[in-house]
Amino acid sequence: MVGPPGSGKGTQAKKIALKYHYQHLSTGDMLRSLATASNLTDVERQAIEQMKLGNLVSDTLIYNLVFERIEKALLKGEGVVLDGVPRTVDQARTLQGFFEEKKIASEIVVLEVAITDEESFARLSTRKVCNQCGEIVPGVSVAEVCVKCGGKLVVRADDNEDIVRKRIEKQGNSALMPIREFYNQLGLMVSVNGLQQIAEVEADIDLILKK
Ligand code: AMP
Repeated sequence: MVGPPGSGKGTQAKKIALKYHYQHLSTGDMLRSLATASNLTDVERQAIEQMKLGNLVSDTLIYNLVFERIEKALLKGEGVVLDGVPRTVDQARTLQGFFEEKKIASEIVVLEVAITDEESFARLSTRKVCNQCGEIVPGVSVAEVCVKCGGKLVVRADDNEDIVRKRIEKQGNSALMPIREFYNQLGLMVSVNGLQQIAEVEADIDLILKK
């Protein structure tokens, strides 16, 4: 799944994973949990620093995080929803090569949850997230407790205004353009309107996945 930060691709990825029994692989979640680990390698420590600044982390680290997990899922006969990767054309090309090697390239669907950069900025600078289950609470809210798990609702560290601007520069619509072109040439890209209500986006995705 691709889309600008705050497009709702994480929310939709979780729904797809539940409904279709796929594994949800979120590179952002993996990096955030890596950030809390001890004994990080230099490469991992640098990556966490870059993430905090709103920059992309190295492709090699992303491949280390996802390829093994995809292979494990495939061995168990399970599908995966990739959330947050690819974020560059190099990542898209490398993933495609990996899928071809595994002979599953014909089963790939690339779903774009499309929103404008302005909407991305508005959503990221107002939302809160649960520090336990990752539930996202959109809009300005005084709530402090997650209704799903009782965890604490916090402002994500990289949702501060300067970092949000950087993330939109590196991961927003202009960064997505070459990725869209790459997948359009392969005929793999399908876009849904992420400006709709969550349930409407979900319904549009269902129509695509049930085809
Ligand atoms: P997310 O939770 O998807 O918004 O990702 C949080 C942060 O993790 C991003 O702002 C990047 O710093 C980093 N990140 C996640 N996925 C990738 C990726 N595929 N390539 C590079 N950096 C990534």
